Amino acid sequence: MNVLFATVEMYPLAKIGGLGDVAGSLPKNIRKLGVDIRVVMPYHRFIEADSEHIGNMKIEQEVYEIHHTTVDEVPVYLIKNEFLCKDKVYGYQDAMRWAKFSRVVATLPEFLNWDVDLIHMNDWMTALVPAYSIKGNVKFLLTIHNLKHQGKIELEQFTGLSLPENRKNELIWQGKINYLKGGIMLSDAVSTVSPTYAKEITTEEFGEGLHEILKKHRDKLYGIINGIDYEIWNPETDENIFANYSKDNLSGKDKNREAMKDELGIDDDKPLIGFVARLVEQKGLDIMLPVLKEINDAHIIILGTGREKYEKALKNMEGKYVHPIIKYDEKLAHQIYAATDMFLMPSRFEPCGLGQMIALRYGSIPIVRKTGGLADTVKDVSEEGWGFVFEEYRSEALRKALKRALEYYNKDAWDNLVHRAMKQDFSWKNSSKKYVELYKRIL
Ligand code: ADP
Repeated sequence: MNVLFATVEMYPLAKIGGLGDVAGSLPKNIRKLGVDIRVVMPYHRFIEADSEHIGNMKIEQEVYEIHHTTVDEVPVYLIKNEFLCKDKVYGYQDAMRWAKFSRVVATLPEFLNWDVDLIHMNDWMTALVPAYSIKGNVKFLLTIHNLKHQGKIELEQFTGLSLPENRKNELIWQGKINYLKGGIMLSDAVSTVSPTYAKEITTEEFGEGLHEILKKHRDKLYGIINGIDYEIWNPETDENIFANYSKDNLSGKDKNREAMKDELGIDDDKPLIGFVARLVEQKGLDIMLPVLKEINDAHIIILGTGREKYEKALKNMEGKYVHPIIKYDEKLAHQIYAATDMFLMPSRFEPCGLGQMIALRYGSIPIVRKTGGLADTVKDVSEEGWGFVFEEYRSEALRKALKRALEYYNKDAWDNLVHRAMKQDFSWKNSSKKYVELYKRIL
């Protein structure tokens, strides 16, 4: 089976959020199952890779250089073109950039003379690939990592896409050209990154305006939970943290906690809670901020960047118990997962969420809202699970869950809970098999 995996982020070449993590780990796990999967992505200007220029592709007047590299044994085609490749992944004329990229993806198999069975697209950035595809026998899977971003442009801009007029109707939604809607219409299957989110997005509350379309296509809608890269996220070998540890010997975890406390000037024995996320509404900051104001029985370490209003609000709360660190820092993220006792994810919605899975791997007990992938991966302690789960999107519900967690922390049972958490398996082993099953179903 030959699969082309199209993305604009891939760890470690380029990562902004969860999509980067997935693109960096899913293809290599699918490859282990015997599928010839290869990645195609833009050669962003900041990418450092040993690559080989294998030829040029010309589409209309534009020239695209095709470079080849390998990442963890996965072949990666890097597409170089001035309009496409910038100093950051996002934030330019993205709708037109990604349309051009999608056209390149659709044309790449012919250029390579490679018999591709299926193109696996990721989010709106590559949703137009089937619209540009000229080969009749290729199948398409569109994975939605975040429904909020859809790629919308005005109707008049349709001509700029260089698509045949008869494609227009499939792309129109609520008076605009909507890339993601087009991708949903034109793909053989659509998947999202957890079973619960796959159900949620057919409702008005979570559908981001596309729920009617998704409901109509629910027969081809699937939910497959993401995994995390167990080589990168491994407390037994992680070189970013202060001391290594395993579920059977947690003394290293204590060293990580102590090192973090020294760094932050904490001199009491109260538990540490971590929060590592983009600082946007999705992540539940609106219900979290009021709770932070009153916290005095634990320390919360916040690592993130995002909307200015949240960055400012958090900075203003810096004090004895609230430790905001406003930056993007991969190494520090590892240290926080390792040092903390609990990990907070009060998301308003969460397609999958990787933070809670990483936290479990590092024995940091997740406190989460029951939505999307959080509902699929964290079971409450009251049901012999490994986390603290609350339902309502309200500060009061979060406050109660936090209180339950802090009370539990003082019991002897805490160590058992940490052990149980670290025993859960959120590697790609199961989920990569599910993707291959889905590929087979489509073909
Ligand atoms: P999303 O994809 O919505 O951003 P996920 O939980 O799926 O959320 O994935 C977020 C990933 O990005 C995790 O690996 C998390 O550790 C990482 N991350 C988020 N913010 C930061 C930051 N400021 N510094 C380092 N890593 C971060």
